[in-house]
Amino acid sequence: MSDADGAIGEVLVAAEDLERRVRELGAEISRDYAGRDLVMIGVLKGAVLFIADLMRELEVPCEIDFMAVSSYGSATDSSGVVRILKDLDAAIEGRDVLVVEDIVDSGLTLHYLLKTLHAREPRSLEVCALLTKPERRRVDLPIRYVGFEIPNRFVIGYGLDHGQRYRNLRYVAALNE
Ligand code: 5GP
Repeated sequence: MSDADGAIGEVLVAAEDLERRVRELGAEISRDYAGRDLVMIGVLKGAVLFIADLMRELEVPCEIDFMAVSSYGSATDSSGVVRILKDLDAAIEGRDVLVVEDIVDSGLTLHYLLKTLHAREPRSLEVCALLTKPERRRVDLPIRYVGFEIPNRFVIGYGLDHGQRYRNLRYVAALNE
């Protein structure tokens, strides 16, 4: 992809490493959910590429649904106050639910989301996050599946944007500011 603005910095996770890790996560989730029937919830828009690749690796029956949330904080600092912009299409009561996130930074967005979903009484509720920034975490969260731990940099690519662009990169890179 052309990078006229010079925004694409150091590559932190290469395309082939993403592919390999997504295959591993798919195998692990398939083992853990064998004999069950999964509902995957993608958090828009960043998780779209990840969830599409991940579900192709699953060997258990699965459904897909989406939620969109927005944080009231600034673009780079989450406030933990979250507004639901798009809710799930279907009920999750009694279902095995896996929330699929692009990145967990402070963890405040996910913390709110889990609280909301838990109240709907799913049979189980777990999280699969492609990326996490442990240094930035402000709440302790049970993230069952993690793709990669990355340093405290703002990243773009593989679903992650800067001003809605760069989601289509096949790799994850730091943003040159
Ligand atoms: P948290 O509530 O965990 O602080 O923030 C989570 C959300 O902030 C993510 O779902 C993502 O939308 C956004 N975010 C956090 N870090 C990054 C980053 O490095 N790059 C991009 N593009 N978005 C990020």
